[in-house]
Amino acid sequence: MAHYTKEELELYRHGEMSVLGRISCESHLKHCQKCAKLLDELRDEDRFVDELRDSVLVYKELSRKPATPRTRRSRNSG
Ligand SMILES: [Zn+2]
Repeated sequence: MAHYTKEELELYRHGEMSVLGRISCESHLKHCQKCAKLLDELRDEDRFVDELRDSVLVYKELSRKPATPRTRRSRNSG
């Protein structure tokens, strides 16, 4: 059986697939690691966008308060 494309998995995720399509997609995902992984990646991308949106909100909140010029901390990643 053919694998699902990213676009098709997007449709599946957003419930925009036909009922039949969704059922066969579901059963395919149970057997196919490759497509299941792709679906996971799509979810991660979503989470990343959500986190970005959150940090923008936090930034807006912070910038509303008067700035404190002497505490200029840079964030370390790790
Ligand atoms: Zn597959």
